[in-house]
Amino acid sequence: MHDFPTAAAAADQAFMRLALDQARNAWLVGEVPVGAVIVREGHVIATGYNRPVGDSDPTAHAEIVALRQAAALLGNYRLPGCVLYVTLEPCAMCAMAMLHARVSRVVFGAHDPKTGAAGSVLDLFSEPRLNHHCSALGGVEAPACSALLQEFFRTRRRGPPAITSGDATAQVHAGGLDVMHVDGAAPSAEDD
Ligand SMILES: [Zn+2]
Repeated sequence: MHDFPTAAAAADQAFMRLALDQARNAWLVGEVPVGAVIVREGHVIATGYNRPVGDSDPTAHAEIVALRQAAALLGNYRLPGCVLYVTLEPCAMCAMAMLHARVSRVVFGAHDPKTGAAGSVLDLFSEPRLNHHCSALGGVEAPACSALLQEFFRTRRRGPPAITSGDATAQVHAGGLDVMHVDGAAPSAEDD
């Protein structure tokens, strides 16, 4: 019962796969694997991956890294007409940054039942008291996005018990994901 995706849906999937490549870059440097790309007029103009530990920067989520890169490229603190793809549902910080940037649309992969601000815990994109308009679509390539996160934490638990301060920071950042993993409730489009 699978319909062929529309051209728009196929494009969303293709860009989400690029965001997944960014998430793998985060894993390569030991960060929780979340990745993002920003697309304007059908072209990727910026990329980002999660790097709060390596950068000693609590705001260095994939979305923020990509937003900064796109804004610098365009020489504009606002990004109308841009679509942000991210492998995990944005947190409140990132959701507000996208609203401030006037991003037109956000597409995310896995839902985050612990800190997601696009419907899971809060829904800042549908909050009528916020005078912004940015549509959000979740669940795109969700199985691949959540599988990457689950495998990351599985590998971590198998690793040596030595915990550095950097590891502790990462665990705090991803606490919700760990719970989600332990519960076996992999996020999926059904979470809608
Ligand atoms: Zn965030």
